[in-house]
Amino acid sequence: MPESSYRFACEEHMDVVIDGIVDDFAVAPTILPWPDPTVRAESPAVCHWCGKTADYVLTWTTEAETPST
Ligand SMILES: [Zn+2]
Repeated sequence: MPESSYRFACEEHMDVVIDGIVDDFAVAPTILPWPDPTVRAESPAVCHWCGKTADYVLTWTTEAETPST
């Protein structure tokens, strides 16, 4: 099953956070203004890079590892 993931970003660091997602997961995230009613965030909505209040949420899906047994 694909899993939805997300990271938050402030306006200043959106590009940095996007680059990090591209590097870490090899996907291009969807950019949404924060708050967004479709994203259920369990962590505080702060910039992944600097910890300030988030302005955007970046979401993407990854294929979960399939257990071999
Ligand atoms: Zn920031």
